[in-house]
Amino acid sequence: MMHKCNICGKEMNEVNDINLKGFMICGWRCECGNEHSNPEDVDNIVKYFKALKNGVEATVFKSGNSISVRLPKVIADLYHLNTNLKLPIETEPGGIRLKIVRRKVEA
Ligand SMILES: [Zn+2]
Repeated sequence: MMHKCNICGKEMNEVNDINLKGFMICGWRCECGNEHSNPEDVDNIVKYFKALKNGVEATVFKSGNSISVRLPKVIADLYHLNTNLKLPIETEPGGIRLKIVRRKVEA
């Protein structure tokens, strides 16, 4: 998809490493340094911060012989999580961290 820079008029490159409020999101970057964030990603961040006011929690439940962790939709949308995705787990003092692999840039 073509995306033109509103500053210099050149074609912008699709990127997946725009840092918006600590979230790495997709968008477009120009040689001149101008960046356009993907509106859907920005919207997901706004929804996340709204949801934070009521608390964003994972639910733990038994699933066969395993324990499942259900993530709220706002998190799934924020990180574009799909079902059957395998996320590496890192332990840290007092918690675990799900490592989310960044989306590829579509050619
Ligand atoms: Zn530009």
